[in-house]
Formats: sequence, structure tokens, C-alpha cells
Amino acid sequence: MKDPRAAPLFIGSEIYRNSSYGPWHPLRVPRVSTVMDLSRAMGWLPADQYITSPRAKAIALTIWHHPDYLAALQRAEAEQTVTPEDAERFGLGTTANPVYPEVWRRPATSAGASLLAGELLARGGVIYSPAGGTHHGMPARANGFCYLNDPVLAILSLRRNGARRVAYIDIDAHHPDGVEVAFGDDPETLMISIHEQNRWPRTGALTDEGAGSLFNLPVQAGLNDTEMAAIRDRLILPAVQQFAPDAIVLQCGADAVTEDPLSRLCLSNNAHWRIVRDLLGMAPRYLVLGGGGYNPWSVGRLWTGVWASLNGFEIPERLPEAARQVLRGLSFPGHRLGRNPPPHWFDTLRDAHRNGDVRPEVTERLSHLTARFAVQV
Ligand SMILES: [Zn+2]
Repeated sequence: MKDPRAAPLFIGSEIYRNSSYGPWHPLRVPRVSTVMDLSRAMGWLPADQYITSPRAKAIALTIWHHPDYLAALQRAEAEQTVTPEDAERFGLGTTANPVYPEVWRRPATSAGASLLAGELLARGGVIYSPAGGTHHGMPARANGFCYLNDPVLAILSLRRNGARRVAYIDIDAHHPDGVEVAFGDDPETLMISIHEQNRWPRTGALTDEGAGSLFNLPVQAGLNDTEMAAIRDRLILPAVQQFAPDAIVLQCGADAVTEDPLSRLCLSNNAHWRIVRDLLGMAPRYLVLGGGGYNPWSVGRLWTGVWASLNGFEIPERLPEAARQVLRGLSFPGHRLGRNPPPHWFDTLRDAHRNGDVRPEVTERLSHLTARFAVQV
């Protein structure tokens, strides 16, 4: 069992290296392998903090996923195609959720990491699984680039291993519709999601309350660091504090930064790192997951900085040559952002702060939510 005072653990796998959803899919870019390579280049990932993710067995996933769906996913990998019936029933073989070479093994590996994290955190600790965060997965359906829902599996595993009250915080640009299906009506799960309004999957309305511990904050395009700081200080941290969770699960999707091609939010990675740091120590168990993030440089830099933040490593102004080489080795085929990347994508992990005005809509929506948690949580 993990000593809660011990160093954070990183769960990764080589399966993510060179795995792609296909040449035109946003998930054609490397992400987890970049974080592992950059962290090692920085000297931040010694062997005793690294765990190779196990691959979950289908039977272990039936705690939330339907056995017929799991069988279809395994069939899809074996046959590299799906029948029209499986496509229709399970959402497989679509543009968003294609059949690709590791279509079963890859999600089963990130799900295995989340199940393992729940066990390893039984006596407390901090775990980082950047391959996790597949928050759109449904019990019997692939959805939004996600085949399984590892955050749901993580929460169920934490529950099996002694945590009762769980705070799930999601700062991905998209609303975690799959996690809300699982826990939106559960008073023992605090759910807070900050997501871009009017963006797919278009769920997560401000007025949704679930059983009282569900807080959805849709935000406008252009969300800046100052606004996110207000959200952090007025909503996220006080709600978690008041809820007094046994475990915190942070879905730290990297798609709400300016450089991300799939959202119109304008955070810098400083916003994410500060939330990662501020939640540290607010519960005895802390699991940080990845999520979205579709620009290979911004996601690699952001998620490596998350690992530094969990460990208290100082992020240098200028990266050493070995780390710059990792970033120089990346490409963004078929995207204009890959044609002329700015120097800071290679020289440093840290973005310039993107401060701005706090728009009245943000303040009003925050007031709406904080008025609720003051009495209900
Ligand atoms: Zn997302």
C-alpha cells in the first residue's frame, strides 16, 4: 500500500506511442508519450515513480460498461471493422470513434490505470494518469473520441477501496456527459465542470443541479486566466473544501488553451497548473487524469507541467537541450498550427499568462452556483 506521504506516482504505457485514431482524426497526434519523454528528459520521472499501466480485462469493466459493448469493442479490434449492427448499436466505426489498430487495447489500458489508481490510493496518495480522462464514454456506446469511461471507473474503484465522498473536477473544454450520466444524481459525488458553452456535446447546463452536488459552469469563448482564477477561487476551491471529499479526481483536459484547435477558450497552461497545485492536499487521495488536448506541443507541455506541479518541481524558464529535442521531434501533420510553430513551444513549458477582464456573464453564473453550494453541499 502506498504511503500517503510518498512521492506521486505516474501511470503510463508504451501503447500510446505511435497509436493513432487515423490520419485525419484529432487524436492522430502523440500526447502521453510526449509527457513521458519530456518528464524523463527533465529528470522528473525516476523508475520508482513510474508504473506501467495494466490492461483491464473486460470482466473488470462490467462494473459500469455493458458486456455486449465490451465484446463488440474486442471484436472491432480483432476484425478491424464493425458490422452495420454493431456500428448502429454501439457507435463504433464513426468519424469520431473509428476502428483503429488498438481500439480495444488502448482504452482498456487507460481504464486499467484508473482501476489500479483506485486500489493504490486506498491509503492515500497522489497519482497521475495522463492517458485517462475519457469523460464522454457511455455504458454501452462509444462517444466523443472515448470508448470507455475511465473517470467513472476510477471513481467506482476509489469507492471500492475505501473512499465514500468523491469530488470530480473537470476543466476540459467539453462537458463530461458520460461522467454526469454515472454520478450526476449521486449526492456523494461533487461534480464541477467548467466547459465552453454551445459546444459539443451541448449538455451541462448551468441550471442542472442533479441531487444537489452537481455544478455546471458553461463559459463563453475567450475564457482567460483571470476568469479561470475567479472560477477557481469562488467555485472550485470553496466547494471542494465544504464537501470534504475522501478523494479528488481532476480531469485536466488540455483543450481549453488558446493553441488548441478544438475549442475557443483562451487559457494559458498556468491556469491548469495552479488548479492542480491548489487541489493538492485538499483530500487524502488525489488522482489527476488527462482528457482532451489536440495540439501536440500545447498538450505535451501542459501535461508535463502538471506532473511538475504535483511534485513541486520548478519549471525552468528555458528547457535543457534534451527536452527541446523532444519538442522539436513533434509534428502536426495536416494542420496550419504545425507549419510555423512559435519558439516558445520548444524553449519552455510555460505559456505567457493570458489575463483579461472578468466578463459579467462569468460573475453572474458564478454567483448563481455559489448561492447554491453555500446551502446544499
Ligand atoms: Zn475536451
